[in-house]
Amino acid sequence: MKTFKSLMTIVALVMVASILLVACQPAAPAAPAAAEPAAAAKDLVAGVAVYKFDDTFMTAVRNTITAEAEGKIKVEMVDSQNAQATQNDQVDLFVSKGVNALAINPVDRTAASVILDKAKAAGIPIVFFNREPLAEDMAKWDKVYYVGAIAQQSGTMEGQILVDYWKAHPEADLNGDGVMQYVMLKGEPGHQDAEMRTEYSIKAITDAGIKVEKVAEDTGMWDRVKGQEKMAAFLAANEGKIEAVLANNDDMALGAIEALKAAGYFGADKKFMPVVGVDATAPALAALKDGTLLGTVLNDAKNQGKATLMLTYVLAKGETPTKDNTGYEITDGKYVWVDYKMILLDNIADAE
Ligand code: BGC
Ligand code: CA
Repeated sequence: MKTFKSLMTIVALVMVASILLVACQPAAPAAPAAAEPAAAAKDLVAGVAVYKFDDTFMTAVRNTITAEAEGKIKVEMVDSQNAQATQNDQVDLFVSKGVNALAINPVDRTAASVILDKAKAAGIPIVFFNREPLAEDMAKWDKVYYVGAIAQQSGTMEGQILVDYWKAHPEADLNGDGVMQYVMLKGEPGHQDAEMRTEYSIKAITDAGIKVEKVAEDTGMWDRVKGQEKMAAFLAANEGKIEAVLANNDDMALGAIEALKAAGYFGADKKFMPVVGVDATAPALAALKDGTLLGTVLNDAKNQGKATLMLTYVLAKGETPTKDNTGYEITDGKYVWVDYKMILLDNIADAE
């Protein structure tokens, strides 16, 4: 009986041991994979949110981000559809997934603090781009960065294009009163580029000694169709009075050109209107070539997209961005400023 009992104990032990062995087996092959550093690098994930996919300039920026990420980091890119609440939810999801870094193009730049708080609480470094958070928000954490362009610069350049034109073309002063009667198509109110371009374009003109009179101003929300509608309304209400059109971006300038064409401009009789924009998008360059757009300012989507990706990538690896590891000068420890450039027909190649 005793022998039978011990035999049963041995059988039981063998059974337990074999169960344990089987249970342990799947874990065994995992060991060599963990030792491969290349595989680990590819596992880095960046959560990227763009305020609205349906924006011509942002489309160029996000295409660059996607292209530059190749072989470096996995990019999960989402469309915030112009709704801050949607974007906040998207950030929550990125945080819960445990992404290694965030790159956010805020819907409302004053809401950046909410996103920043979420990132900081989770310890996930964050790069804002194109829509600049307030300075006080940028100061909240050392792992927050901004990639963009100096808005004032684009306004000054846009104004300069009209200054040069006005000086070279006395006939541009249609009513001969020595004052430039202009209309302004503004981008989204509150956006640093909309506010600064509106202000600094006119400042460049008045600084050059040219008097101005604002005939009309309205927001076209960066949008081509809205730009066209607003310009058609300006023309209807101010027939013959408008001598120049300033738009905060090319899409609205192109919309204005459509409205002008419908009102008899740029046709066989050569009736001309100076129209200026900002961005140097492909359709704007085409308009520059066909003589409808007077000039634009290159908003360098390629370098802004590349800088955004490089900073995000370096941060995702747990490193601190420097000129050496990103290729871009970091100003005040957290800003990358990409230069604008004035674009006219004679230097159009600089934007192509
Ligand atoms: C561009 C606009 C664009 C906006 C989006 C600006 O810098 O000039 O074309 O719609 O950014 O935030
Ligand atoms: Ca005049």
